[in-house]
Amino acid sequence: TVRVRIAPSPTGNFHIGTARTAVFNWLFARREGGKFIVRIEDTDTERSKAEFTENILEGLKWLGLSWDEGPFYQSQRIERYREAVQRLLDRGLAYRCYCTTEELEAMREAQKARQEAPRYDNRHRNLTAEQEAAFVAEGRKPVIRFKIEDEREIIWSDHVRGQVVWKGRDLGGDMVVARTPEGDEVFGQPLYNLAVVVDDIDMQISHVIRGEDHIANTAKQILLYEALGGTVPEFAHTPLILNQEGRKLSKRDGVTSISDFQALGFLPEAIANYMTLLGWTPPEGSPEIFSLSEAAQQFELDRVSKAGAKFDWQKLDWINSQYLHNMPPEQLVDLLIPQWQGAGYDFDPVADRDWLVELAALVAHSLTRLTDAVAEARLLFGDSITFNEAAQEQLQLEGVREILQGVLTGLESVENLTPETAKSLINQVTKAQKVKKGLVMKSLRAGLTGEVQGPDLIQAWILLHQKGWDTSRLTQAL
Ligand code: GLU
Repeated sequence: TVRVRIAPSPTGNFHIGTARTAVFNWLFARREGGKFIVRIEDTDTERSKAEFTENILEGLKWLGLSWDEGPFYQSQRIERYREAVQRLLDRGLAYRCYCTTEELEAMREAQKARQEAPRYDNRHRNLTAEQEAAFVAEGRKPVIRFKIEDEREIIWSDHVRGQVVWKGRDLGGDMVVARTPEGDEVFGQPLYNLAVVVDDIDMQISHVIRGEDHIANTAKQILLYEALGGTVPEFAHTPLILNQEGRKLSKRDGVTSISDFQALGFLPEAIANYMTLLGWTPPEGSPEIFSLSEAAQQFELDRVSKAGAKFDWQKLDWINSQYLHNMPPEQLVDLLIPQWQGAGYDFDPVADRDWLVELAALVAHSLTRLTDAVAEARLLFGDSITFNEAAQEQLQLEGVREILQGVLTGLESVENLTPETAKSLINQVTKAQKVKKGLVMKSLRAGLTGEVQGPDLIQAWILLHQKGWDTSRLTQAL
């Protein structure tokens, strides 16, 4: 059975790249009727923070990526890793290396001088008991290195990249799998590659789907699976997300975490939809707007592209607007209310709810992001307003006072302002004042909203009327 995982390190907020990997894992698990597991890789105790774990788990929930098992925490599994390291040592597959930082540095300098790639030269692989004792007596702290044979070839068939071949000699020499932290006589701190393999074996992970920056790690990890007697899972390395310049999207690009996108006014459905399209192409003829569960019905790892996926803000904005335009106003209003509250607009979210739903319907089609609702609805809040220059000019035109006066008088006998009564009132004033209807409309807009452009006039007027703000504003305009 399919068992996949997302294994974020809580050293920062939930990154868009990790989130995209999570989406692909989730889709694959749902498509295959498998399990999606969350594992927090918090072995780096200095850089890991509880607030980041929180941010990641909240982000997964927000995106709708429900998990079946976990979250598991590596920090609670240290004993398992120590046990594995001990097993490697017992079988002669790993050894203690006592090289100092200075020695390693000198080694690298010498390699550089010879124009060789930096690597550990395996010099402590075969220390005698006497040599070891001497290093210990000097007070040196060992690291544990896992042996990697130069001649070894590592081959796997990647679901995205096809056959991948690595040579042992390109993996940088025997690799460190654990360090000895201060005050620990054994070998306390397991490192990433070891912990991942122990976890993936214990959690019976069948497919590892992760970013292509992990390809070299995969080669190393395959050796560890074999050494630890685990079944090697299948691998799929997803393309990197690139910025506009075609380089890997990084912190320098500013907006990179899911919570950043949330704050910018994107909907979780739109983010999930867009991230699915970052590297995956739906089958010919299927729509580009889809829910996660719709995508899960069609998701194939083999349709994931090898090429890097350029992050396209316009496309994301377009997808977001599609969701906003198609959302029922009763649902949309709950997302807009916090925006309007944040802007300090004058309303009561409970008592004014029906009115707010109508307002949501009025502005919906002009929204790209939720945050746009602030500007789009600005003219609809408040009993008094400021008139911009164009509106002031309009209000000073000949005959406009009489028009607004006529509307105000007419309003006194209107019980319920509907599109019909509003239109007939406009017609009435047009006739009575013997002016063009366009003048009436434009003047009314200026008087009601303080501007000469904006939302649908009749709808806006009706909303203002329901609050009594139309008369107060028109009076102010006179
Ligand atoms: N903690 C690693 C990361 O966030 C996990 C990589 C993996 O999936 O093995 O990149």
